[in-house]
Parts: sequence; C-alpha cells; structure tokens
Amino acid sequence: MDTEERFQELLQDAIDYVKTGFRTHRPHKAEKGEQEKEHALQEESRGYDPGIDERIRSCRSCRLHEKRKNAVPGTGNTDADIVFIGEGPGEQEDIQGLPFVGKAGQLLTKMLAAIELKREEVYITNVVKCRPPGNRAPLPDEEEACFPYLEQQIRMIGPRIIVCLGAPAIKTILKSNLGITKLRGQIHRFNEVPVIATYHPAAVLRFPELYKRDVWNDLKLLRELYRDMRPSS
Ligand code: SF4
Repeated sequence: MDTEERFQELLQDAIDYVKTGFRTHRPHKAEKGEQEKEHALQEESRGYDPGIDERIRSCRSCRLHEKRKNAVPGTGNTDADIVFIGEGPGEQEDIQGLPFVGKAGQLLTKMLAAIELKREEVYITNVVKCRPPGNRAPLPDEEEACFPYLEQQIRMIGPRIIVCLGAPAIKTILKSNLGITKLRGQIHRFNEVPVIATYHPAAVLRFPELYKRDVWNDLKLLRELYRDMRPSS
C-alpha cells in the first residue's frame, strides 16, 4: 500500500468513527496519558514562558471569555519545528481546556501520522483561545484581541514551519482575504517563517470528497519542506 492509499485509509477510518461512533483502530496510547505527556513537554521547554498560558486562562480582553468553561492556550512541544494553527476551541476543547481533542482533532492526529509526525512533536493552537458560542467563526475584533497571544507563542516557540488550518488562521497569519483555494499549494511567509495553508480537519470531515485530495497534497508539501530543512542522516 503506498502512502497516499494509507492516508486515504486513515481518513476513512476517521470518517467511519464520526458516523458510527466506533474506532477502526485503537489509539496507540490512552488519551489521558497523551494529554499528560503533552503537558510535561510544555513544562520541559526552555523558550516558552508558561506564564502566557496563565495570562490566556485569565484573559477577559474580548467577549469570548463570557461563556467559556476553559480558555485553551495550546498543547504539544513548545520547542516544536512545526506549529499548527486552527480556528478556535469547540465544545470538547472548551470542556477539556485542550485544542483539537474532538473528532477534528482525531483526524488531525491521523493526518500527522500519515506524514510520520507524532502529535507530541508539534505544537497545536488556535487563532482565538476561547470558544465562540455555538461554534460560530470568530469575529474580526475577537481575532484581533487574541492575536498578541498567538504572536508571542510563535515567537517563543520559534517554529521552522507554520501550518494554517482553515480560513481564520490564514486570514490572521497571512493578512489576506483571499480564499484557501487561492492560497493553498504555495509557501507563504510570516516574519520569515514559511507558512502552508490548508483546510481545517472539520471541513474535511464534513466534505471528504471535496477536500481530502487537496489536504493530502498540502501534507505532502509540508513533508517535503520539512525534509528539505532537516540535515540528511
Ligand atoms: S479569545 Fe483571546 S482575547 Fe478573547 S478572552 Fe479569550 S484569550 Fe482573551
């Protein structure tokens, strides 16, 4: 089975899970253990000031603080080479205080696995750190209010690549109102850091036939870019 077939299989597993509630494959580790590992990685990192997470958790700079259960600063390796940026926390993320733990998060984990990346190797965060009510898209003033946190996180982590998942991340990082279809498939820059734009995993779950081939091509672009950056062994 080649890599593309493997990716299509993984993606179909995730879609089956969403439809039936049954996993095709068992997770490699218990979810709780994964979360504890991610938190431990955060604490080990030298460049990332954990104080920012506390500032985010107590932030009231926009209306999104009013209905949140938990603010969601981000998770993963705070010394990561690759930072993934989504839109905002959903229901499960708001409850657990962690990003991408719902069904879209499960798909993101599988997407990473398809290009031989582990979730704990990368850092995952969102444009807004508090859940927009009813999972609506964040409003421009909310994105603006939250942007300084994202900017600080990127500066402290110092990634070699940024991946924008969905339109709000693309708009925030690339300051462009062009759609994903116009911006994906190319390498952009944010403060000199290469940026790749692709669809949000939630969109892939909703419309797999529409998006999965483009997402796979974007993942291949990410894999090639990352390989080119690493010293050959
Ligand atoms: S979304 Fe961002 S700016 Fe708004 S309250 Fe939450 S942390 Fe603060």
